[in-house]
Amino acid sequence: MRTPLVAGNWKMNKTLEQSEALLTELAAKRPDTSAEIIVAPPFLNLPAAVRQLQNSVIGVAAQNMHQAESGAYTGEVSADMLLSVGVRTVILGHSERRSYFGESDELLKEKVDQALAKDLQVIFCFGEELGQRKSGSHFEVVERQLREALFHLDASQWKSLVLAYEPVWAIGTGETASPAQAQEMHAFIRQLLAKEVGAGVADAVRILYGGSVKPANAEEIFSQPDVDGGLIGGASLKADDFVAIIAAAG
Ligand code: PEP
Repeated sequence: MRTPLVAGNWKMNKTLEQSEALLTELAAKRPDTSAEIIVAPPFLNLPAAVRQLQNSVIGVAAQNMHQAESGAYTGEVSADMLLSVGVRTVILGHSERRSYFGESDELLKEKVDQALAKDLQVIFCFGEELGQRKSGSHFEVVERQLREALFHLDASQWKSLVLAYEPVWAIGTGETASPAQAQEMHAFIRQLLAKEVGAGVADAVRILYGGSVKPANAEEIFSQPDVDGGLIGGASLKADDFVAIIAAAG
């Protein structure tokens, strides 16, 4: 059985002080759950978040990482830097990184390779844009994103991967994919993985849904058989909402 995972992507929100306050509230209100919980604060808040959560079951992830070992990449953060402050998970391929910072499938493949080589867990995001959904090419788009960045990996590397299907038209828009639309895509991904990577990987890999998940819709989405939890943006910034979403994951 796959352990559900709920991860909160804070994006460029929360100062150090606000981050500490939110984590204090979250730790206090955390429901009794079998789900794994991860928060992804901005880079600057990571060391304090790791310290604050060191005796907690809540894990800490970074929102991005550079693909190189080190060097002249002004403003960037390497895998070793994340590891050195106790971060063990990184989100890669978020649609905002793809669209605002031009991250391509090819670049993401390099980032995934570097993260896995450093034994980081990767939450890999992908998903179609609205026009692609409307034109019916969403399955093709998702297949390409996965194929180009991940299909070269072997079964042991897949153990450190979590997938996050995030239709771009549902991120931060208030519009959610229906539970049936989420299940349809997640089942497609699992079948694709079974064919291309192996049945063991397809069965074991967790596939999160992301895109305007909130307390009111979380339970129905998470109850779909191929949905293993969620990647949560806006609703992870308020402890009560995030806690209600965690509770919905089981
Ligand atoms: C996200 O950015 O990963 C996300 C799912 O955002 P939101 O929940 O705000 O749609």
